[in-house]
Amino acid sequence: MARTAFKAPRSAKKPGFPVLKIFQKGRQRFFEKVSPATLEPLGTYAIQDHKEVDLVLDQAREAFETWSVLPLSERAAHLKKFRKQIVKDMHEIVDVICAECGKTEMDAIIEIFTVCEHMKYVEKKGPGILRDEPRSVGLFLNKKAYVSFLPRGVVGVISPWNYPLVLSAGPVAQALMAGNTVVLKPSEVTPATGLKLGEIARRAGIPAGVFSVLSGDGSTGSALVESSKTDMICFTGSTSTGRKIGEVCGRMLKPVILELGGKAPMLVFEDANLERAVNGALWGGLSNSGQTCITVDRVFVHKSVYDSFLKMAQEKIGQLKQGLRHEKPSIGSMTFPKQISIVDDHVSDARKQGARIVHGGQKHPDYPGHFYMPTIVTDHHHGFRIMHEETFGPVLNVVPFSTEEEAIRLANHTQYGLNAYVWTRNMKRARRVARQIRTGNLNINDAYTNYIISDLPFGGVKDSGIGRVYSKEGLRAFADMQSVCVDRFGLKKELWWFPYSHGIQKLFERVIRVLFG
Ligand code: NAD
Repeated sequence: MARTAFKAPRSAKKPGFPVLKIFQKGRQRFFEKVSPATLEPLGTYAIQDHKEVDLVLDQAREAFETWSVLPLSERAAHLKKFRKQIVKDMHEIVDVICAECGKTEMDAIIEIFTVCEHMKYVEKKGPGILRDEPRSVGLFLNKKAYVSFLPRGVVGVISPWNYPLVLSAGPVAQALMAGNTVVLKPSEVTPATGLKLGEIARRAGIPAGVFSVLSGDGSTGSALVESSKTDMICFTGSTSTGRKIGEVCGRMLKPVILELGGKAPMLVFEDANLERAVNGALWGGLSNSGQTCITVDRVFVHKSVYDSFLKMAQEKIGQLKQGLRHEKPSIGSMTFPKQISIVDDHVSDARKQGARIVHGGQKHPDYPGHFYMPTIVTDHHHGFRIMHEETFGPVLNVVPFSTEEEAIRLANHTQYGLNAYVWTRNMKRARRVARQIRTGNLNINDAYTNYIISDLPFGGVKDSGIGRVYSKEGLRAFADMQSVCVDRFGLKKELWWFPYSHGIQKLFERVIRVLFG
């Protein structure tokens, strides 16, 4: 019987440091990057150590002195130029993303679209969101009150490999708008996209030291987190690494945003628009080879439409083309070699224990690179690893349910709480169900679109993280809040200041009774 409160099994923990081919020349360590689609070498990158990280942080601290005092409108103007430069250099970025991720061109373009939409929001709405905000003074009519949103200092942004542009540029733009300077540490699995972003920022005229990009692995990220020269960390990555970073930040009392893993449920009720639901499940589960934190993973379908859903999904998945970039496919390769073994382990484990693989279920036989065939798994038991560990690959688990209550229980049967999807034509039911699913974000009759709506905050609950990015809440998370009270009339003293007297005390007692009693 599925439980609602979920405890992570031991095997769910994944090591935080990916396996890399590392070599040393003199005192400098390097790693090699190979194309995941063709297995051709793409280049070598330095692993910057804590001394080099410290030097970059010193430059960022120096640049903070001038960047943080720029008017909001000037910082917005810089970001606008940065966005326009990204658009100008779009094809250069697509080339880098496709080469190092094995993505399709369309998946790379979606990254650029998402980044530009979020950057535009930040430039347009940022100055209003970060301006001093007046607050009500309650009884204290002789005062004024407001909140200031002040730059925190140097923000360390650490990003993963699955969306190397969005998950770097998104937090970077917000942190810069809030007046911080930023040091980015992109994933060692996709180092070139982050470095390209730094190059584009320089072309756009972002002043030196305001935004810098490091090259390195987990040890470089760790140096950024541990340094007393970073004032905040925004981390996107696995739950296991997030926990380690959270512990360090807790010890150092350093503000931190943790955007972590997911295992999104999709609930398809009997009255759903079935064809749209199937299309949404396929795109939401298989685009970017399923390597998306909000990927549609566990699809719970009402038993009365289960067979029709599965039949339509099988027909449509069979028509999807997978392949190399120049073959113009809908699905590319996976990005991280280790990830393909995790996907294969989950599918093999489910198969061994009696699940049925109705499509895919293996590496693509025609390519030497890391291609995993789009896969549908059915006939599960909820104890299977594939039903509770993050698979992060092109796999849809399709499971029937009988009642609304059961669907909600199954959806919540996970340690994660990032995204969820509810499909029904009955809006009353959709909203009722949505409120009972423990996730930070949710779509009704849609897939992923919440992430592109810049006015919606994004973040997880449970093991999916702490804090929010994007929107007003996300932007303000990159600022220190300062609450200010201003006296208006300059009286000699307030009633409650020294010296205390019996009369004043009695007056206060009366006021308490009248106002609050
Ligand atoms: P990861 O945790 O292995 O690595 C992420 C980044 O952290 C990399 O840059 C890595 O070098 C760095 N790192 C590793 N160890 C570190 C340490 N001890 N200190 C500081 N930095 C360290 O994650 P990944 O495999 O790159 O990314 C995939 C994971 O990211 C998945 O779990 C996915 O769900 C999650 N993710 C979450 C979101 C979200 O918004 N919630 C978005 C995308 C991906």
